[in-house]
Amino acid sequence: MDFRFTPEQEQFRDSARRFAEKHLAKGARERAHAADYPWDVAKLMAAQGLLGITIAEADGGQGGTLIDAVIAIETVASTCPRSADVVQAGNFGPIRVLAEYGTPQQKEKYLKPLLAGESVISVGMTEPEAGSAVTDLQTTATPDGDGYRVNGSKVFTTHSTHAQVILAYVRYGPGVDGIGSLLVDTKAKGVRFGKRSKFMSGEEWAQIYFENVFVPADMVVLKEGGFKKQIAGFNVERIGNAARSLALGRYAYEAARQWAMQRRQKLAAGQLLLYRAAANGDRGFPSVEETAIAKAFCNQTGFDVANDALQVMGGLGYTQEDLVEYCVRRCRGWMIAGGSIEILKNRIAEAVFERSFSQRPDAVR
Ligand SMILES: Cc1cc2nc3c(=O)[nH]c(=O)nc-3n(C[C@H](O)[C@H](O)[C@H](O)COP(=O)(O)OP(=O)(O)OC[C@H]3O[C@@H](n4cnc5c(N)ncnc54)[C@H](O)[C@@H]3O)c2cc1C
Repeated sequence: MDFRFTPEQEQFRDSARRFAEKHLAKGARERAHAADYPWDVAKLMAAQGLLGITIAEADGGQGGTLIDAVIAIETVASTCPRSADVVQAGNFGPIRVLAEYGTPQQKEKYLKPLLAGESVISVGMTEPEAGSAVTDLQTTATPDGDGYRVNGSKVFTTHSTHAQVILAYVRYGPGVDGIGSLLVDTKAKGVRFGKRSKFMSGEEWAQIYFENVFVPADMVVLKEGGFKKQIAGFNVERIGNAARSLALGRYAYEAARQWAMQRRQKLAAGQLLLYRAAANGDRGFPSVEETAIAKAFCNQTGFDVANDALQVMGGLGYTQEDLVEYCVRRCRGWMIAGGSIEILKNRIAEAVFERSFSQRPDAVR
């Protein structure tokens, strides 16, 4: 199989990269630690054509392929990992199920704002008693007039605290064949959220309770027997999930590589300070100030670089199979031995301010 990108895909990747560098590079760190959904990013992406990449043009999407969407998520993640979640939400998640199986009316009401980056949709599958075994789900949809009464609860729902609508997996009847889905507006009467919690990633979620929620019949996406179709749509979500895992792994790898290169510069700086102190020595005795600067800097840098190297090497770095852990231990000692870094900083301060500072506490009176 040939995985080379077409010239059009290369072009698309370049434009996504330029977009990410221009709009997402700044603030990437803050975004990663913020609990809120990055709405500003969603709107920018909508304008750039990064939402609904695989959705038909007739439905307001871009009419592209799944690979195009993967290119988008990888490219965005390489600049701003958190923003990749917006690509996920706008291309890989329940939005695809809605675009695939939704009625024109449902698309008009919900798909349009999703593609405009003004709304987000969650998928409510998991329940307190149905996780991996999702077909054990207990949320029911019972016919009532021209709609259904929905009762049950969903947990761990991504974007649950931000979503305007939930694609809820429900049970119309017993067994796997009884499972289907419908759209529940989060503002509907009877929809209640439990206390807000956080995933380890920092993303917020809250348990969702459906308490006799009336859902009109025209909000049904898939009736009984729709489970297989839904899971087919969910596989798209899994591609986005896998793409983000890989992209964030690559992001961390690049960060470590750049970190190591930056540390090399610090080593080079220490080298110059050391050579300066040694070369300027009068009859072989280096000056107090230059020696203090060189030692404090080299002690700290040597330790930091060795410690980072240990981390980069993982478990092996922490064993005695290699000399890295030895370097860490030795460097740590030199931060104390031969004039600790603190004492050297005192020496440097004396040179800067051209006076001596007493290193003794005032005599006890
Ligand atoms: C970050 C995050 C986001 C999520 N977003 C959503 C969302 O948007 N919508 C949604 O509906 N759900 C969401 N979930 C829930 C997720 O789908 C479930 O957590 C998942 O399906 C596992 O279910 P569980 O937590 O009940 O664990 P369990 O199913 O109880 O599993 C516990 C452990 O047992 C293992 N296990 C279970 N069954 C088997 C088996 N048969 N063989 C071997 N091992 C097994 C599991 O692998 C796991 O390690 C999210 C979860 C996380 C962590």
